[in-house]
Formats: sequence, C-alpha cells, structure tokens
Amino acid sequence: MNRIIYVAFDHLSRAKGALAGANKASDFIVLVESKRMTTGRNWHKERLFFLISSARHFAKQLEAEGFEVRYLKAETTVSGLEQVQKEFGALPIVSAEPSSFVQSRTLAEFGVEFVKNDFFLTSRADFQLWAERQKTFVMENFYRAQRVRLSILVSNGEPEGGQWNFDEANRLPPPKNHSWPEPLEHMRDEIDLQVAEELGMTATTTWATTRDGALKQLEHFIENGLDEFGPYEDAVAGESWAMNHSLLSPYLNNALISPEEVIDAVLKAYAKGNARIESVEAIVRQIIGWREYINGMYWFLGEDYRELNSLEANRKLLPVFTNPSNSKMNCVKSVVEDVDKRAWTHHIPRLMILSNLALITSTNPQQFLDWMRERFIDATEWVMVPNVIGMAVHADNGVLMTKPYAAGGAYISRMTNYCKGCAYDPKTRSAEDSCPFTTLYWDFLDRHRETFSKNHRMSQQLGGLNRLSDLPELRIRAKKVLEKLDAGQI
Ligand SMILES: Cc1cc2nc3c(=O)[nH]c(=O)nc-3n(C[C@H](O)[C@H](O)[C@H](O)COP(=O)(O)OP(=O)(O)OC[C@H]3O[C@@H](n4cnc5c(N)ncnc54)[C@H](O)[C@@H]3O)c2cc1C
Repeated sequence: MNRIIYVAFDHLSRAKGALAGANKASDFIVLVESKRMTTGRNWHKERLFFLISSARHFAKQLEAEGFEVRYLKAETTVSGLEQVQKEFGALPIVSAEPSSFVQSRTLAEFGVEFVKNDFFLTSRADFQLWAERQKTFVMENFYRAQRVRLSILVSNGEPEGGQWNFDEANRLPPPKNHSWPEPLEHMRDEIDLQVAEELGMTATTTWATTRDGALKQLEHFIENGLDEFGPYEDAVAGESWAMNHSLLSPYLNNALISPEEVIDAVLKAYAKGNARIESVEAIVRQIIGWREYINGMYWFLGEDYRELNSLEANRKLLPVFTNPSNSKMNCVKSVVEDVDKRAWTHHIPRLMILSNLALITSTNPQQFLDWMRERFIDATEWVMVPNVIGMAVHADNGVLMTKPYAAGGAYISRMTNYCKGCAYDPKTRSAEDSCPFTTLYWDFLDRHRETFSKNHRMSQQLGGLNRLSDLPELRIRAKKVLEKLDAGQI
C-alpha cells in the first residue's frame, strides 16, 4: 500500500474527492467514527443514526468493490488516523478538502494532503472570483450567472420560459383539501438496526442510509413532488410534513448523491413534459443557486463570520426550543415537535417560525445556531452558518440579506394553516391573546428603530411602526410576552 485515503462522513462518494482516483492495489481506505462527533454535543439521534449508518454502509460497499477498508472508532479523527499509521506505517494520508474551517485546519496540521473538493458545482476559487466583483452579494445575480455558466435552462443567453424566475407563481398559500405526495419510507437492514441499537433508539423509516435509497428518494421526488414543487414551495401545510419538498438535502450533504445527478433528473423530467417550468426553475434555483451560494459564501466570509452578532442579541435560547410541550403557540409547538420527530422541517418553518422567533426575541445568534446544528439531519457547518447568521437572524448587519426576515402573525396566517384553532390571534398586537409573533414583530422594529432607519429597504416597515396608535400598550405586552417566553410559559 502506498497511501491512506481518509474519507470523511460527508464525502461518501465513489466518484468524487479522493476516492475518484483511488486504486485498489495501492490505496488503503479509512473512515473514522470519532467520539467527539457522536457524543460531543446534544445531537439529534436521527441525525447520528443517518450519518453513522450511511458511513458504515459506504465502507461495506467499498469493501465489496475490493478495496481494503478500515472503519474505526476513535476519540477524534486525528487519533483514529494516528492509530492507522501505527498499524500500517507512516504512509501519506490523502483526503478531499474538508467542508469546514476547523476540520481543514486540524487535518492540515496533522499533515493530511488535500485533493480539490469537487462536491459542489462551483469551486471555492471560482466563487471567490464572482464575490470579489460584487458590490452586494445578491443571490439572484449569482444564480443567473450560474444558469449561463452551467448552461441550464438557457438558450442563446435567454432564460427558458422567458423569465429568470417565477416568484409570482411560486408564493401560493397552502390550498384547502389538497392531496400531498406520500413520503417514501426507507426499509432497514442489519447495519441500520445495529446502529440504532448502539444509539439506544428505534430506527425510523424516514431517511435512507445508502446510495440506492438516496436514488430512490430522488426518483420519488421526480415522479411525485416535482411538478407542484414551485407553487407551494413557500407554503406550510400542517397536515403534510414533507409537502412537495425533495427531502434530498441529507444525501446531497453527505454525498450519497451529487447535485449533477439531481439537476440531470429534473431536466430530463422537464424535457419529457412531466413538470411545469415554474417548478423546474424553482428546484434548479435551490440546487445551483442557493446551495452553491451558501457554500461559496461560507468560505468567502471566513471563519469569524459565525461569531457575528450585529444586533447585539443576547437572550438565552428560549425553553420552547427544547421543550415545546407547554407551548400554546400552535406553529412553534408543531414545528419544534416535527424537528424532534424527524430532524427536519422545510425551508419556511426554519425561516418563518424558528428563526423568526429567535430574531424578534433577540435570541443570541450563536446559541440559536448551536441548537439548529444539533437538531437537523442536514446540518453541517458550511450550510448552517450562513443560513442562520446571515439569512435567518441578520447577525451580519446585512451582508447576505439586505433586510431582516422578520414577520408578524398575519404573514404566518397567510402562508400556513397553523393559526386556525391556535390560542392566539394573529390580527391583534396588544391584547391578552394577541399572537406573540405580531406583538414581538413590532416591538423588534421599535427596539431597533435607529439601526433600521439607516436601511432604506426598511422604510415601509418603519412607516407602519410610526403609524401605530397603541405603541405604549404594545411595549407593555411585548415585555410580558418575552418574560413568559423566557419562563417557558407561552
Ligand atoms: C435557518 C435555515 C437553516 C438551514 N439549514 C440548512 C442546513 O443545515 N442544511 C441544508 O442542507 N439546508 C439548510 N437550509 C436550507 C433548506 O431549508 C434545506 O436545504 C431544505 O429545507 C432541505 O429540504 P429538501 O431537501 O426537501 O429541500 P428542497 O426544498 O427540496 O430544496 C432542494 C435543495 O435545495 C438546496 N437548498 C435550498 N435552499 C438552500 C439553502 N438556503 N442553503 C443550502 N441549500 C439549500 C438543498 O440542498 C435542498 O435539498 C436552511 C435554511 C434556513 C432558512
């Protein structure tokens, strides 16, 4: 053997990273299940189950292919690699460039050599070239450049369907009595059951742990979810946890499938006439736009970005995030319970319910980020940091988003069906039963009035604030709501 190839748990692809050029005769493959990764934090068990079982299946698959593979448990990744070097001699260790600053530094210091990280459609260097030329980092500009560069839904420089985006058609509220696709269930094998037993849990059938399962999920989405993906992508329907969403983020993020494969399947369905343009464009935007942009920005903005707190938000994480059972806020309780159940909710509950609550209560961004990192199946550093610090809680003073994503109960009522039957009224602000989101939305604007007055994109909201006739009462109610939220009584 000439080399050790280290495969991280989010690089489970035979076609990419260091494994793309692997040689059975001379490369020895190592995967490390580090204790720090499994027990270091209050990780959601569904998440650990998914990551560990996927890695063990992948190791088995490499063995079946004829590779010499060592899957080992160790205190840390580095101590695992040291163990292998002791056993097999100080062979050079090669891996794909890791997906976080910390892991890159740790492995580089240990002497691991990196091959280019090709798990994305845009290299870090190419993204930097784009970002350096921008005055503001508007995702839409990046996305259009991606469409042209990758030649996706573009002919002769013109967008397919005559428009770059179909936002107007894609902001529909949840329809009544709609039939949503049934989520696919993933069967369990011995490896899954073993991992579940080690974690002290019962294996659910929500998430696949193999490449075959991930490909089945892709097929299921293309056949059942894609055509109506666009119109309802921003809506939340309490009766369907997945709606038309693809549920592909975990597999894209641990590399069981690639973004190229997803785009290819989507474009084929479109070419066959099986999906409307507003849905095809919408999913393409998520994959070649948002996903690539978030990864690019993570590397471009640097390691200190995760510590930003420009709104000086210092409230402790609210108890409702860890114990929703006492909450009378139907939306928050339902969404946190969904996350507890499956380690997942789609984009809008993450943004409009969970993050919005953290934002308008001035919850400390780093405490909220930690909670999000621990609770979601698809959470990794590169994707959570810009999504939370920039997009969700505006802790970066507007580097990513020109204005904070703050919303009151009326918007939640329009885009979800949670408000029906809720104890709180989304339409009022300062009554005893006013929706906490509505009260706190205005109070948040009021508390940051001076900061936001410098942002012309906030002038409409501040104009609304100035017209409120009940601001003194609203402030009193907001104080009470915050006290009760702190005490876990709302
Ligand atoms: C506060 C917040 C935190 C988030 N944290 C994560 C995270 O930890 N991991 C993660 O993969 N996504 C994250 N997202 C993005 C998005 O919510 C999830 O990718 C999506 O809900 C996953 O479900 P899906 O695969 O069914 O997505 P779909 O709605 O079917 O979208 C398709 C794909 O687009 C990609 N995508 C869409 N939006 C984003 C985005 N903003 N950033 C990165 N990829 C995107 C994902 O790969 C996703 O699988 C976050 C969004 C917010 C607002």
